[in-house]
Amino acid sequence: MKFSPEKYKIKDERMQPFIDIEEIENFLEETKNPSEEEVKRIIAKSLDKNRLNLRETATLINANSPDLVTLIKNGARELKEKVYGNRIVLFAPLYIGNKCKNNCLYCGFRSSNKDAQRKTLTDPEIVKEIEALEDNGQKRLILVYGEHDAYNPEYIAHTVRLAYGVKKGRGEIRRVNINAAPLDIEGFRTVQRAGIGTYQVFQETYHEPSYAKYHLAGPKKDYNFRLTSLDRAQEAGLDDVGIGALFGLYDWKFEVMALVRHTNHFEACYNVGPHTISFPRIKDASGLKVEEKYIVNDDEFVRIIAILRLAVPYTGLILTARETAQVRDEVISFGVSQIDGGTKLELGSYSASQNEEQNLNKEQFAINDTRSLGEIIEELIDKQFLPSFCTACYRLGRTGEHFMEFSVPGFIKRFCTPNAILTLTEYLVDYAKPEVVQKGWELIEKEIKNLNDPKLEVQIREKMDKIKNGERDLYF
Ligand code: SAM
Ligand code: SF4
Repeated sequence: MKFSPEKYKIKDERMQPFIDIEEIENFLEETKNPSEEEVKRIIAKSLDKNRLNLRETATLINANSPDLVTLIKNGARELKEKVYGNRIVLFAPLYIGNKCKNNCLYCGFRSSNKDAQRKTLTDPEIVKEIEALEDNGQKRLILVYGEHDAYNPEYIAHTVRLAYGVKKGRGEIRRVNINAAPLDIEGFRTVQRAGIGTYQVFQETYHEPSYAKYHLAGPKKDYNFRLTSLDRAQEAGLDDVGIGALFGLYDWKFEVMALVRHTNHFEACYNVGPHTISFPRIKDASGLKVEEKYIVNDDEFVRIIAILRLAVPYTGLILTARETAQVRDEVISFGVSQIDGGTKLELGSYSASQNEEQNLNKEQFAINDTRSLGEIIEELIDKQFLPSFCTACYRLGRTGEHFMEFSVPGFIKRFCTPNAILTLTEYLVDYAKPEVVQKGWELIEKEIKNLNDPKLEVQIREKMDKIKNGERDLYF
């Protein structure tokens, strides 16, 4: 299908398709069998805080031998440790509605799936769900919608405002991100005005012929409209965007290259990369129809994450509960910055009792990490990761925080770690089980000591005391 700017009222010529299949294939072909020296040079470039170009990314992708893969994994781990430290940001997805006019063959929400019971949460149901999430300690949400006329920009903006308005006990939602269909420029302006954080649109597969095979009907058929969607977001003034590919639809090597190309495109046109990259793997869904040949195994998945970490060192990487607890635990150290916790996908399931839960709709796809938020936080603390619900940058208008974390010397020490400590303090005071509380304080003490900054320590302790005395939402 030809892309036509007129059709979508696009006036900015930057909104042109930018994925060149031949270019990506050539890079992958030309960089086969890289030497150890070359791979080491590229890793060193990344550790020196430089984004990799497409040729370098292709070289890492072609580094297949176990020794070279180990080098890449170690490089990614070192980068994550050196630059980002041990913080992991936590969030929860909330499915608002599964009506959908598209027919994506991999998704349980697709229009041809007659087994799916269609439902959109009512406003009181949304409030109930959010109250249940707040009762668990969640502060950051991503609202998810099928693609349907009912889920228009005004409705999305309405649900975002609704979410921000729910306050239960000491709970509140401080950041609402969106995963929904691509919008036109005016639509992005409408959701932007509701105060959203990140708008995510995953391209699913960047390989246009494969995209055509999986998207047979509905507006999502239009590859280019989707590809340029986040350019329209930028044009609307919404510069906080998340990209992603659904791994398992086409060759993972191609998709990793395309994600890096997409990142370069943003940097070249808007001087800012995407806020986050997501890399879901296809999971079981009701009536799933995908070819076996592109399914990504666990070893390949670890390589994907390590390569992305090195290739785009200042972009947040999101890993979801589609993965098992075991896989999540393994890959977190290679550069993941955000995970969801306590995830449930059936509409209405956060507030449902156990009995009610059995009667809920089948979810869009299977999740494999069914641990509660409390369990995940306890395990993160046990492994000496610092759980964070921080939303400070977004609240203070400091957009591009991943870039700042990466490029501004001392930013993490000055802002991110203290804010993670403060949000963990809130969690320990308000929601944690007694056995987690003690471990949590010990971790916080260790983190404060590691900062090695007496003045900052005083400031953090002052704020922690205020939290213990009932104040909330304190940050640097
Ligand atoms: N309807 C919107 C769209 O398609 O962009 C947003 C919601 S859709 C439910 C969110 C994402 O779920 C999709 O972009 C896709 O990557 C992912 N997804 C769909 N089916 C999946 C499956 N079987 N396994 C894993 N992820 C899946
Ligand atoms: Fe609908 Fe999105 Fe699922 Fe496609 S992936 S069927 S657009 S909900």
